[in-house]
Amino acid sequence: MPPSSDANVELDALRAAVERAEQAEKLQHALFAISNAADEDVALQEMLRRVHEIIGQLMYAGNFYVALYDKLADAMDFVYFVDSVSADGPAPGTRIAMRDYEDSLTWNLIRYGKALRGSLAAIAGQIPGALRARGADAVDWLGVPMLEQGEVKGVLVVQSYEQVGCFSEGDQNLLTFVGSHVLAALQRRRRREDLERAVLLRTAALDEANRALTIEVNERERGERLQRALYRIAELASAAETMEVFYRSIHEIVGDLVNVDNFFIALLSNDGRQLEFPYYIDEQHLPHPRRVLGRGITEYVLRTGRPLLANGGQLQRLHEEQEIELRGQLALWWLGVPMRVDGKPIGVLVVQSYRDTVRYSERDQELLQFASSQIANSLERRRMTESLYQANAELEQRVFERTSQLAAEIVERKRIEDQLKYQVMHDGLTGLPNRAYLFDRLERMLARYRRDPSRQFAVMFMDIDRFKLINDTLGHHVGDAVLQEMARRLTSQLREPDFVARLGGDEFAVLIEETGDVETVVRIAGRLIKALEPAVLAEGHEIAASSSIGIALCDPRYPSAEDLLRNADAAMYRAKINGRQRFELFGAHPDDNQA
Ligand code: GH3
Ligand code: MG
Repeated sequence: MPPSSDANVELDALRAAVERAEQAEKLQHALFAISNAADEDVALQEMLRRVHEIIGQLMYAGNFYVALYDKLADAMDFVYFVDSVSADGPAPGTRIAMRDYEDSLTWNLIRYGKALRGSLAAIAGQIPGALRARGADAVDWLGVPMLEQGEVKGVLVVQSYEQVGCFSEGDQNLLTFVGSHVLAALQRRRRREDLERAVLLRTAALDEANRALTIEVNERERGERLQRALYRIAELASAAETMEVFYRSIHEIVGDLVNVDNFFIALLSNDGRQLEFPYYIDEQHLPHPRRVLGRGITEYVLRTGRPLLANGGQLQRLHEEQEIELRGQLALWWLGVPMRVDGKPIGVLVVQSYRDTVRYSERDQELLQFASSQIANSLERRRMTESLYQANAELEQRVFERTSQLAAEIVERKRIEDQLKYQVMHDGLTGLPNRAYLFDRLERMLARYRRDPSRQFAVMFMDIDRFKLINDTLGHHVGDAVLQEMARRLTSQLREPDFVARLGGDEFAVLIEETGDVETVVRIAGRLIKALEPAVLAEGHEIAASSSIGIALCDPRYPSAEDLLRNADAAMYRAKINGRQRFELFGAHPDDNQA
């Protein structure tokens, strides 16, 4: 049974509904795909290519392009362009100023913000101004603006060069709808890109800040290190250590600033004609002896007065230019800075490297220069203190030497003086006190006696009996021996402070300081005579010798030593007359008192 017309109508309606539903589903699908494509992390071109593909499933899209509008620059950016006729269409990313494309289809689309559809003639009727198409003439054209809050952000265009009426109103609606999604996707993309760019920028800024901070921290640390080094060097100037310790400490401190595997200090000698190396540490060379100024690298620094930072090649060049002479193992890196005091060069501070892993930079040079002026100052202060100290030490040594010399001289003089005094006061043959000594003591006794008459004393005058005979028969020698023996025997009979003196020839005198009474003196005289009695043995001879003694007691009537001795002599003379080997007391004879 054929279907009724009602049924047909109903069927058509159903078909249309199904078709719409299919269309809607397709559209839904497409939009979903566009949204996905926009989200995926693919290049813009790829994303637009996929969008293009999707649009192609919804309508004819053999020729399709997308342009974005930059309001600020009033320019359009062709971000996607596929055309079957214009093979040389704008490359992706091409920007064209609006004024350069004035009155074109795209220009109109952007300017008026309204979709344009149909043949060029039809479109010309839709727009208020003129239309000047560019490129190949399309027979059917459909362009829709992508709008955001009424503003044109870009356009989507499809065109056909073959089929008139290719694009329907439905297509226009569809493309508009797709456009809004493309725009959203593009903007999402752009926001993401913006965010990524912002993150990158921020990261870069942070990196930059971080680098600056690191540099600043390094700089500050370097500054602190330098300052610490300078303080320590300054302290060294007044430290009590030896110069050797001073130089070693400098080495260590500079080692905190730069590599000092090889380090030396060269100083100009005082006359400025020689180089001295008070400190020299080197992997390749033994300590340097001093040398007359020549054409070494160190001298070069002194000559130019400027620091030298050179690698092996640069040193070689200086050598070829005859600025320096090279000898020994050449350093791969050489850094020397002059040391100055009051602007005058006093030496050079040098670090060297024989290894390519240790290089010196201008920063190292700067550090070493800073350190060198402080070192020069400290060194100069040390040297001044040192020379002052040395001068003092020398002076002290000279004073010491002179003093001990003088002390020795004084001792010697005293010895000579004592000897002279002794010689003056003593007799050479017997060693007894002499006449001068006796008189000296007599005067003192007299003075004492005058002060205190109870302090009586006596003096005896002795003369050996017939001494000439001994001399004449046995010789002068034997006579001398007898005199010496007499002296010994007499001395042995006396007690301090009493003593016997030799007056000369065969004459002696005895001083008895505390007499008490006459008997005491008489008893001593008797003892003396007795002591001389035994024979004297001299050079094989037995010699009998005796002595005559005259005694004088102190007496206010005889106030001088001469008086007393003369009285004693007078008494002795009487003892001789009276038979010798005896004593006589002055005053016991009537003649005595006249003397
Ligand atoms: P007298 O009993 O009168 O004193 O007779 P004497 O021979 O001792 O005569 P006197 O005292 O006048 O002579 C002293 C002699 O002593 C004179 C001299 O030749 C001698 N004589 C003097 N000095 C020394 C001396 O140092 N050594 C020696 N061996 N004889 C001396
Ligand atoms: Mg005599």
